[in-house]
Amino acid sequence: VLELQDVHKLFGDNHVLKGIDLRIAKHEVVVVIGASGSGKSTLMRTINLIERVDDGRILLSGDDITEPRINVDRVRSRIGVVFQHFNLFPHMKVIDNVTLAARKVHKMPAAEARAKGVDLLTRFGLGDKVDEYPDRLSGGQQQRVAIVRAILTDPELLLLDEITSALDPMLVGEVLDLVRSLKEQGSTILMATHEMSFARSVADRVVFMHQGRILEQGSPEQLFGAPREDATKEFLARVT
Ligand code: ATP
Ligand code: MG
Repeated sequence: VLELQDVHKLFGDNHVLKGIDLRIAKHEVVVVIGASGSGKSTLMRTINLIERVDDGRILLSGDDITEPRINVDRVRSRIGVVFQHFNLFPHMKVIDNVTLAARKVHKMPAAEARAKGVDLLTRFGLGDKVDEYPDRLSGGQQQRVAIVRAILTDPELLLLDEITSALDPMLVGEVLDLVRSLKEQGSTILMATHEMSFARSVADRVVFMHQGRILEQGSPEQLFGAPREDATKEFLARVT
């Protein structure tokens, strides 16, 4: 689904991504961990074309999306994105938030979008919030709405960047449970998180970023149980 080839990103003379090579297969859940500032968010943002790469290529299902003449909106419509802050529109009901992109960007008929939205919201325990406004929901509920919005159009890839880090600890579990069920349904996910126990239990592969590079990667058992690099060991000792 996704392939990064020697991706570089600089902000001024700050070399933030120093040659990232990464492949994600269909149905794979890849979790990115690493210290603050190691480049996790920048990595996700280059895939969504919020940041343009300075060197290297990114292929989405074989299409080079870093090619200068690419249609950015079309690429973004193929990727579901959820960030730390839910960014729901406060003046729109939950169902309208959830279906907006499907209706406007994907030209899905309103009735179909609504039916799909209600179905997904119901499946994820939000069936009674369909016609509510976002400020009447808890943070965890809002973030689950944001995830439903991201998956409504069956994106090829889901990018989740620290989706629980703004939440009350009590509410983290319900959001992670939703991600777990997306995995069970076969979604392809790239996720950055500080939730190590979640990474350990849900990831097919864990990627450790260190100073703009992928220092090591492997199965959760390998990476958490037998890290090879000193920097990985130090990081894990600090966070687990
Ligand atoms: P965290 O765990 O805190 O979310 P991160 O691994 O996601 O950290 P990034 O947000 O990718 O880290 O930041 C990596 C580096 O890039 C940092 O040095 C940061 O200051 C820099 N950076 C990120 N975005 C920008 C930007 N828009 N302009 C300039 N510098 C930036
Ligand atoms: Mg980040």
